[in-house]
Amino acid sequence: MEEYDVITIGAGGAAYPAAFRLKKSGYSVLMIDKKGVMSGNCLAEGCVPSKAVIETVHTLAKMRHFGDFSIDYGKIVDHKDSVQKIRYDQHDEELKEAGLKIIKGTARLIDENMVEVSSDTGTSRYRASSIIIASGSDTFVPKIPGSNLAWTSADLYALNARVRKLPKSMAIIGGGYIGMETASFMSILGVKVTVIEMLDRVLSTMEKSMVDKLLPLLPKIEIKTSSPVKSIEKNGSMYRVNFGADSNTESIDVEAVLMAVGRIPVFPDGVDELGIEHDRHGIKVNMAMQTNIKNIYATGDVNGITPLFHAAKRQSIVAANNIMANNVPTDYFDPLSVPFTVYTIPQMAYVGIMPSQARKMGIDYVETDYQIETDSMAQINNEMYGEIRIFTDSRMKVIGGYVIGNDAGNVINEIALAVSRGLSLRDLAEMAHQHPMTFEGIDSAARKLY
Ligand code: ADP
Repeated sequence: MEEYDVITIGAGGAAYPAAFRLKKSGYSVLMIDKKGVMSGNCLAEGCVPSKAVIETVHTLAKMRHFGDFSIDYGKIVDHKDSVQKIRYDQHDEELKEAGLKIIKGTARLIDENMVEVSSDTGTSRYRASSIIIASGSDTFVPKIPGSNLAWTSADLYALNARVRKLPKSMAIIGGGYIGMETASFMSILGVKVTVIEMLDRVLSTMEKSMVDKLLPLLPKIEIKTSSPVKSIEKNGSMYRVNFGADSNTESIDVEAVLMAVGRIPVFPDGVDELGIEHDRHGIKVNMAMQTNIKNIYATGDVNGITPLFHAAKRQSIVAANNIMANNVPTDYFDPLSVPFTVYTIPQMAYVGIMPSQARKMGIDYVETDYQIETDSMAQINNEMYGEIRIFTDSRMKVIGGYVIGNDAGNVINEIALAVSRGLSLRDLAEMAHQHPMTFEGIDSAARKLY
């Protein structure tokens, strides 16, 4: 039986950063993935392809200040496909250069040091001193009649995506970030979009005061809240979506339906037999990324803590460092310093402790802001709206913040660094931020209090 220092189950963002680091330090590593390629859902149907579409549409929206431009959606999809191909090739090269090995197959945990892989060619068993479970998540499709009629994000974003022509009208079930991102670019491309959300507001996991500032800035999207979807029916060439609370049923007829109600973790077989603790949101881990079995780690979407590629990457490195420390933790993941960007047009990004959480935690917070309408880069880009808002504790240590509008997803990183490294508002005030860049709003906001 082949033996390795470390086996990863999955080869996505929660697995390969650890694999690279461990390999570089002389450890033998085997990655096992159902798809047989390095990279998971982010590149297959998630963050990268969706942003290839959204950024192109964002550029179109900016160009429309100068004329009535339109783009063939098929060409946008071609661009998305080409980005995915470039990245798959790049990953192959990186894999070769590092001398790392991937096996295509489905992994099952046999015991705390053994994994079985089933593939087209049969089953084999491998031993390892440590195992990283990085099996990710999958689109959740609720059990409602007709749910199989709806697209999922794979139909829009997988390589060689099925959807290459836009519908005239579309219902998006779920007002989370995937639903709202898709709604905003579809609306800019002229699709009549209705978002149907079960809860009483969209982006419900995010700070309400922040979301309330974003919504009026979005392109035209009809939003139905407190509206659980009851069924989807085929109605000639159209689809009928029936929704509403209790006996109040409303219906809309649309050309396409997208299911975007969230994702669920994917557990490899053997997790229960081995007694690895989990609930339906994910495998339980400490902040060293260890499960209740100390040489078995669970990183990325599978633990459900912060299901984002960049969080998975950091968790993966944390696991690698702790494996190199013989499973006696020396490195820890900090979920509070992970920034989150909603790639609507405009974007909204946030990090750390928000006011409602600060109030719950009894933190006497201080806030300062910068209005982006006064920002030179926002004026250059014709995007004169939104704000930067920074929160500190009473000793002026940055605890969180958000950015809505021009370049929000970039600007938030500096606030995240401040949260992660315990910087003070004064540190931000004294930095000579570049001009003209929306980042300069950070020192402007900080200097309001210095
Ligand atoms: P993360 O961002 O947490 O790494 P991804 O979804 O990007 O999550 O990657 C998870 C990867 O794990 C996917 O490529 C998927 O094919 C793979 N995978 C899931 N379950 C198994 C399994 N039992 N055996 C092998 N690979 C698996």
